[in-house]
Amino acid sequence: MRFVDEFRDEKQALLLADQIRKATTQPWRIMEVCGGQTHTIMQYGLPDLLPNEIELLHGPGCPVCVTGLELIDKAIQIASLRDVIFCSYGDMLRVPGSKGDLFDVKAAGGDVRIVYSPLDCLKIARENRGKRVVFLAIGFETTAPANAMAVKQAKKMKLDNFFLLCSHVTVPPVISGLMEFPETLVQGFLGPGHVCSVMGWTQYDELCQKYKIPIVVTGFEPIDILEGILKVVRQLEAGESRVENQYSRAVTRDGNKEAQAILDEVFDVCDQEWRGLGLIPKSGYKLKIDYANYDAEIVFDTDSDSVCESGVCISGDILKGIKKPKDCPAFGKQCTPEQPLGATMVSSEGTCAAYFRYGRLDLVV
Ligand code: SF4
Repeated sequence: MRFVDEFRDEKQALLLADQIRKATTQPWRIMEVCGGQTHTIMQYGLPDLLPNEIELLHGPGCPVCVTGLELIDKAIQIASLRDVIFCSYGDMLRVPGSKGDLFDVKAAGGDVRIVYSPLDCLKIARENRGKRVVFLAIGFETTAPANAMAVKQAKKMKLDNFFLLCSHVTVPPVISGLMEFPETLVQGFLGPGHVCSVMGWTQYDELCQKYKIPIVVTGFEPIDILEGILKVVRQLEAGESRVENQYSRAVTRDGNKEAQAILDEVFDVCDQEWRGLGLIPKSGYKLKIDYANYDAEIVFDTDSDSVCESGVCISGDILKGIKKPKDCPAFGKQCTPEQPLGATMVSSEGTCAAYFRYGRLDLVV
């Protein structure tokens, strides 16, 4: 299959691994930003191909993992209302809030539905005018344009029973946040290819200059990731810090202008709470005042006093790249994908779930 098979070619992977080995003269720590990249790294056993000097750190680019606990608690409260149809992508139903998850609401009789697109929710809203239909709008710059489009459509269709509960996050501010943590270990980044296909890569120039780090915009197949690592290592060894684009088959310098325009039209940039990382300035999107009627946070009166994270979970440190699942005593014991204690065990893109799923017990014990 074109654009897939050639990026999973074993000979090419071994060749790249050899080039990485030859290029590496000292230890380097490289973070992949995106959960999809973490998934590929674990699925294809890429750490086994790398020299011991290269350590991969797993970053905060899984939207399910970083959605704030307070927002999950709000989602649970709203979904429990009798006149609400609550719609979400499937992974979010198992994310633990302070007291249970959205599956618990569904089990107790709440109308909680899994959808594949925000546009599905518009149809549900049109067919259920006596109900309030709420979509849990999470994700990075990749999913935000479709959610913005759904709100625009709702306005055009004069739907007054459709709402977004928004928790959109953006990548450049979290890279900045990670580099500002005094304990940060990151020396270079594999940038998120899908986000850059929407936003372009010029935003990352400033980060490279400010923090003196290389950022290589990278795709999601094993060959993409090995090429991305090679490019980061070559820059680190040469003392360089600039943006490179490994994922040129999908990413252009300026990205998708139409998608950016709709983001600007519907959303304002806001400070955002990241699960495990805290409040990061200007790292999220909220609906503009013109769309306040569609904003579930404004329309629904929720109580946010109940926020309480599991005392055992160290997923915040895992998302910062300073700890790994092997450092968590609950990994594979009290915490499994069936019974997750923390968000990084819920989504298949979460680091703990990826380690568990691909049986990287050698990296755990
Ligand atoms: S294994 Fe579970 S409890 Fe431990 S850090 Fe990961 S999500 Fe949290």
